[in-house]
Amino acid sequence: MTVVTRFAPSPTGYLHIGGARTALYCYLYTHKMKGKFILRIEDTDTERSTQESVQAILDSMEWLNLKYDAGPYYQTKHMDRYREVLNLLLKEGKAYRCYCSKERLENLRNEQLEKKEKPRYDGHCRDLKEPGTGPFVLRFRNPQEGVVEFDDLIRGKLVFSNTELDDLILARTDGMPTYNFTVVVDDWDMKITHVIRGDDHINNTPRQINILKALGATPPLYAHVSMILGPDGKRLSKRHGAVSVMQYREDGFLPEALLNYLVRLGWSHGDQEIFSMDEMINLFDLKGINKAPAAFNLEKLLWLNQHYIKTSDPAHVAKELAWHMERLGIDISKGPALTDIIKAQAERAKTLKEMAERSKYFYEEVQYNEDSVSKHLTNDLAPVLSSLRDELTALSKWDKESIHKAIVDVSEKAGVKMGKVAQPLRVAVTGDTISPPIDITLELLGQKRTLARLANSIDKLS
Ligand code: GLU
Repeated sequence: MTVVTRFAPSPTGYLHIGGARTALYCYLYTHKMKGKFILRIEDTDTERSTQESVQAILDSMEWLNLKYDAGPYYQTKHMDRYREVLNLLLKEGKAYRCYCSKERLENLRNEQLEKKEKPRYDGHCRDLKEPGTGPFVLRFRNPQEGVVEFDDLIRGKLVFSNTELDDLILARTDGMPTYNFTVVVDDWDMKITHVIRGDDHINNTPRQINILKALGATPPLYAHVSMILGPDGKRLSKRHGAVSVMQYREDGFLPEALLNYLVRLGWSHGDQEIFSMDEMINLFDLKGINKAPAAFNLEKLLWLNQHYIKTSDPAHVAKELAWHMERLGIDISKGPALTDIIKAQAERAKTLKEMAERSKYFYEEVQYNEDSVSKHLTNDLAPVLSSLRDELTALSKWDKESIHKAIVDVSEKAGVKMGKVAQPLRVAVTGDTISPPIDITLELLGQKRTLARLANSIDKLS
């Protein structure tokens, strides 16, 4: 059997990292089983679906490098097929027209609530002798007895009584098919073998299984993944901070860090924390997914991000850093290669956004932090900085070793520790007190820029 999975987001907003984790699990399982992974955009809710959200989903999948083997498939482009299956169900008496008015259904609901019963459709139109008049919806003739059982691959056996499930609406009065119905038709047509999705869909599953059975289809296997919680134990939402995949990009995360973080959030393989994509694929197993919801931990994600900033191929990280530089309006042709910046800054930046912000002075006019200037660039330093300028001017080779030696020589001559010279120098050329080691900073900055900034600072002192 070839494994076929699908990721089926509704384009009603950004792609939530919970959705991205579901997509990742589908992707990993498919790759492990050498199957097929389909992206299906569930856009039949035309009031809430937007093109912008579709784009956000596609962009997020691309940024995360979660490639699909088929799709994107849009449900709105397959209305004829849904109509065809609806007609089939109608013809076979497995669906029926329901003419109940809004008012009747409202009253029914209120009566049930008053009697403390669960609101449900009472089957009024299930066996009409005469067809009704006026607008109608199509309802599924759900079995009235027995149970629906399935072995959830994460939660084990789940049993639902048919008396709990009322006759679901398959198509609205305007003929628009409903969510549970389109999912069923597509899962059937696409020969989906494993439905991996959020546990908010658990209650839909018995309904979908009943419809599949009515169609004579074998239901797929289901794996319902628990939600992601915020630090307060409530479902992770905007209140807790960033939740959209693209926001994580904007905040300076690498896609591999986010994927590594998400795979571990709800799944484990011993105590291992770091997984390359190949390892994830090899080790992933639906059985290893936790039943219990997992809590989001930003510190851990930051730790992983820095790990990947430090260990990934700098050429790869550079592409992502270039995106941040551009967002900040920095012209990267005006300074050192980004791969050199990454090597120099990796220890000091947990995110690429931070790295970009802290690397501006390599490409643009330096912005001075007035507090650092008044603390470190004091008038008494003018002679030391001047001899430093002379030494640095005299260097015929501009590399970190020669620069280091020049700074050591000047501090020895002045009888002060190297730091006493390096820190004012750092403020003079970068505008502040935090930068990579001073010799590397100057090497990257280049001799011309260094000397110009140094001269400028000396001028201000005297
Ligand atoms: N479109 C549904 C959602 O975004 C998912 C449906 C499914 O996976 O079956 O919640």
